[in-house]
This record gives sequence, structure tokens and C-alpha cells, in this order.
Amino acid sequence: MSNSEPGGAVLPGSARSAAVFDSIDQAVGHTPLVRLNRIADGIEATVYVKLEYLNPGGSVKDRAALFMLDAAEAAGELRPGGVVVEATSGNTGIGLAAIAAARGYRTVVVVPDKSSRDKIALLRAYGAEVHVTPGGRPVGHPEHLRSVGLRLAQEIPGAWFAGQYDNPANPAAHRETTGPEIWAQTGGAVTHYVAGIGTGGTVSGAGEFLKQASDGRVVIVGADPETSVYGGGDGRAWYVESVGHYRHPDTELDEWPLSYHTEVIDRIERISDGESLRVLHRLAKEEGLLLGGSSGTSIAAALRVARSLGPTDVVVVIAPDSGRGYLSKYFDDGWLGQFGFPLLAAHGEPTVGSA
Ligand code: PMP
Repeated sequence: MSNSEPGGAVLPGSARSAAVFDSIDQAVGHTPLVRLNRIADGIEATVYVKLEYLNPGGSVKDRAALFMLDAAEAAGELRPGGVVVEATSGNTGIGLAAIAAARGYRTVVVVPDKSSRDKIALLRAYGAEVHVTPGGRPVGHPEHLRSVGLRLAQEIPGAWFAGQYDNPANPAAHRETTGPEIWAQTGGAVTHYVAGIGTGGTVSGAGEFLKQASDGRVVIVGADPETSVYGGGDGRAWYVESVGHYRHPDTELDEWPLSYHTEVIDRIERISDGESLRVLHRLAKEEGLLLGGSSGTSIAAALRVARSLGPTDVVVVIAPDSGRGYLSKYFDDGWLGQFGFPLLAAHGEPTVGSA
């Protein structure tokens, strides 16, 4: 389907671009796939990026936020005048804050101190109350993100704790929307699905749907920071936010989130910060795609997978959010130089080489 303009330009049409909605929650999902071209030079397979920054709250997490809110309302856990509480690196809080604002709820969000300043400002702009806690605390520590969130949820009257790490509505959002969209958009031709692993909701939920729809044919790939424990790393800290699982050096391995269903994952690609950022910069400069750091991680993994595939293969990779929220971080020369990525700084040519 396409719309022609008098000047001859052809604008691709879609149900989404033509739709009229009654509220922002109806505008969640139905995001486009865009093919990678220049950055995929030499790759025979087709690689599509699913642009989740086009969700109304600006990220893939709008889907989980909507499903968690709907489930809480249906279960009577969140009532009119209630307060939404979540512990999040940012995007889930933004999705919750946006939809909660439209539905008349107050939102309280706990974020780790490595969250970008822009994300915190965004939460506040939606009217959310933001609590910043030190990162790197082990699960169970009173200053751990989740402990602070749970404590606040107990203290605040009418509060409901969203709990994206353990809330079944998080992977369900992707099983019921992200997965079916990818299947329909590719006409069932998708052969590989790639997504970063944070709570695990995106990779697990859509992965389950795609496995089932394809009778097990679609290969499900998790993208993980090199040192994260999901992919077998030792848990040392890394710079790309919102993906991976950190392990405090003094602790045993935490329980993994219930939102992460390991049995659906066929393989995990481990991606260094340097590789994530190099791909991220190339996406902006060569594809016109300004994306967030975890998109760099996931698309680096997708390109790695695609390199060994043939012309009939179709790889779909999730780009969770936009680079606009990280201009003072991944796209800032000062930040890049300070944290050991000087080759990417100084607006240089896209850098080729090892991390
Ligand atoms: N990338 C970004 C930017 C995110 O906000 C998140 C969610 N924390 C993820 C990736 C990971 O998604 P999920 O929690 O569904 O695994």
C-alpha cells in the first residue's frame, strides 16, 4: 500500500499512520520495520530493524507498561486515584508515567544513578516522582533499586508495584503484540529474531510467539553486554544501559527474572561496549537511524548472526528506543573520551577496528 503525492514522492502507507485514536494507549505498538542497507553491505540476508522509538512514550517498554497497567486494573490491584510504583532504568517508568498520566494515576519511579540525565528529566516532565539510588547494589540490599521500589510501594497508600522483572504481563505484551506484528509484517518469512535482554520480556515473549507460529523454525537470539551474566560473563559493570544482568562481586548469582524465559533462547551473542557504540554511530551516520545504546548491542548481534546467513534469510532485530535520550552520553565526545572510547569521539569517520 502506498500513497502518491503530486510531486511524485511515494509515501509508504500503513494502518498506523492512518489511524485515529481516542487516547495514547491505543497508539502503542504497530511499529514499522526498516531494512538495513549500507551497514549490511556484503550481507546476503535481509536485516530489518523494528523501530520501537515510534511508540508514544518513545520505547518498546510502552507495550509492557500498557499490559501491566491493564492487568493490574483488571485484578483490582490498581484502583482510581492509585499510585503506580516501579523500579526501572527509565523506559518502563516513562511508559508507565505516560499511560498513568492519561488514566489519572500518579507515578513514582526509582532509577539507578547510571541512568542518563535526559531520561530522569523526561520522567519528571510526565509528572512522575523520581528517586535516584546508587547502582551496583546486590539484590536484597536495602539500596537496591527493587528494594527501594518495594519499600515505597508499601509506604504509599493506594500504591501498586509494577515489578516488570517478575510480572507475567511484561512478556505477555510481546507474545501478544511484538511477535504477531513481526510475523505479519514479514508474511511469516522471518527466520531469526534478535533482541537485547534486560528483564527478558521482549526476547522471551515475542520469541515464544514466533517459535510457535513457525513450528520452531525461527531462531531466537538474545543480545547481551559482554560481561553480563546472561551470556556467561562474570557480571562486571558495562556502559550500555538497560540490557544485561549485573552481578555484584561479593554476591552469589541472583535469581534471574521470571520475565526471562531461557528455554526459548537458541543462542546469545555477547557484545562489548565498544562494538555496541561503533555500530550505534554507524547506524546514525550510514542509515539515518539515531538509536539508543541497547539498539547498538542488538543490531551488532543481528549483523553478526546475519553474516553467516543466505539470501532467503530474514533477520528482525528490535531497536528499543531512540538516541535522542542519550545525546549527552553515547553521542557526546566528552563522555566517549572520558569512558575510554576515544576513537569514536571527535566526530570522526565511523571507526573500524576492535573495541
Ligand atoms: N533496551 C532498552 C533501551 C530498554 O529500556 C529495555 C528495557 N529495560 C531493554 C532494552 C530490554 O528489554 P526487556 O526488559 O524487555 O528485556
